[in-house]
Amino acid sequence: MTARLSVDLDALVANVARVRDTVSPAELMLVVKDDAYGHGLAPVVRAASAIGVTWFGAFDVRTGCAVRDAVGDDARIFAWIAASREDLDAAVAQRIDLGIGDADLLEELADAARDAGATVRAHLKIDTGLHRNGVRPEQWPGFVSRAAALQTEGVIDVVGVWSHIAEASDAEDDDARLVYEWALDEAAAAGLRPAMRHLAASAASFARPEFRYDMVRVGAFCYGIRSAGGPSADDLGLTPIGTLETDVIEVAGESVRVDLGFLHGLPSTLRTRAAVGTPAGSRQLIAVGDSDSLVAAWRGAAVGDAVTIYGPGASGEVSATDLAELIGTIGEEIALRVSPLVERRYTRR
Ligand SMILES: *Cc1c(COP(=O)(O)O)cnc(C)c1O
Repeated sequence: MTARLSVDLDALVANVARVRDTVSPAELMLVVKDDAYGHGLAPVVRAASAIGVTWFGAFDVRTGCAVRDAVGDDARIFAWIAASREDLDAAVAQRIDLGIGDADLLEELADAARDAGATVRAHLKIDTGLHRNGVRPEQWPGFVSRAAALQTEGVIDVVGVWSHIAEASDAEDDDARLVYEWALDEAAAAGLRPAMRHLAASAASFARPEFRYDMVRVGAFCYGIRSAGGPSADDLGLTPIGTLETDVIEVAGESVRVDLGFLHGLPSTLRTRAAVGTPAGSRQLIAVGDSDSLVAAWRGAAVGDAVTIYGPGASGEVSATDLAELIGTIGEEIALRVSPLVERRYTRR
């Protein structure tokens, strides 16, 4: 297998600095779910930690534990999916901050903390309209008063109130923010004083200052992945950190066969829609097979020639989001699909 995903850690560091400058004085939580959007968890969190990033957004507890392993005791790690009592025990043991968007889970967390004789940092989640795990407004007053009681008992410390928004339209996000503001007021009325209010992800963190609060949770932009339909990475001051390349393994007349297919994460729907970078410029992707694909040939094509699927350096600078837009998805989706079978190579300039 000659396919490789080159990850430019200097570009990551520059993007992180750019995001921090933009959102300051709000804090950056670097979101590293899905193996740091396919770029590889440990190298990414180590590079970010080395430039002073202290908050990491881990999705599930297992990923949170992997972040703890990679960067040690000082990192603040936020996980918002705990599926079992084992997860909760691991979160308590590894001092992971937990996002709690469910009244039953709040009680289970309190049990786990009591059993461990620990105080767990909790971030309470209001459902502001996305209807993913979050407490509905009609249940919120009861939820925050129960959380306040558990805080008085000493089993939890409510350090955050948060939500997640669609970032698809300003009007919807504005509505979500009204619900969020109301939820903050209700939390305050229950006696809670969360230091970390967080609502925005990549798009809103740049475009909507009033959504930044104390912290923003940013994944895509730190990896240089722009929003579909949004401003270019250049305009945002960001650089894609991943370059997906592979080699020509056969030259057959009008086409060349390249060492990357559907099973490695190349969406078959890109067939005939996408062009890839070759030594002779961009060429049409003709077919996507299970483990190899066909690209329109160029004069002098040879086995071993490198072909770039996306990333800086591709002729024409095709980005993951450019490819995503061709098939109606988002850049993250393209990055996440790159299979673990594809070697990751880390570069520093
Ligand atoms: C993935 C995710 C983020 C980061 O979103 P980006 O658009 O990649 O910045 C933030 N918060 C939550 C809850 C997420 O699931």
